[in-house]
Amino acid sequence: MTIFYELYGALYVNITNKCPCSCVFCIRDHSDVIKDSDPLWFEDNEPTMEDIKKDFERFDIEKYSEIVFCGYGEPTERMDILVETAKFLREKTNKKIRLNTNGLSDLICGRKNTACELKGLIDTVSISLNAPDAKRFCEITNSCFGEKSFDALLDFAKDAKKCLDKVIFTLVDVISKEEIEKCQKIADEMGIELRIREYIDTY
Ligand code: SF4
Repeated sequence: MTIFYELYGALYVNITNKCPCSCVFCIRDHSDVIKDSDPLWFEDNEPTMEDIKKDFERFDIEKYSEIVFCGYGEPTERMDILVETAKFLREKTNKKIRLNTNGLSDLICGRKNTACELKGLIDTVSISLNAPDAKRFCEITNSCFGEKSFDALLDFAKDAKKCLDKVIFTLVDVISKEEIEKCQKIADEMGIELRIREYIDTY
């Protein structure tokens, strides 16, 4: 069971394989690992808090630049474990904590303003914007929530801006130049930085 894994000098946390999307660029469709990690699929059960606390002890946290929730799934699918793990990490270290998310936690959890449940626990949230509108978002992510996903993502980003220190949008360069320009406009209007990633491995 791979919970914590090293990537790009940071310590990543894999807490779930569940995700409401099936993105066209998702690494899970063509690999079981990210770079040099051990396989990130959980074979039986997903990790308990006990598993997470025990696995964390294998690592010297001082070696890492930050902690990143980003695994083979959407971390907010286990919002309670995400919150509890972030609280545990806050007690253990003063390293910055980032969440990489598809921004759909309001729909996943069935309640509004879930971004603010992370206040004080997550320093930076990196949200996969992916597309300039609801229709293209669905084509790219295949979200099980359909076209309402895009507005939910934008609401999550607005809430995150109010509650968390730093909010970033990302997108993978599988869309056209014109679409990237439209995404940039959305990001600019919301006052959120947009980072464009090459189609390679992880968000
Ligand atoms: S949201 Fe992330 S984990 Fe889910 S399908 Fe898309 S890339 Fe994969």
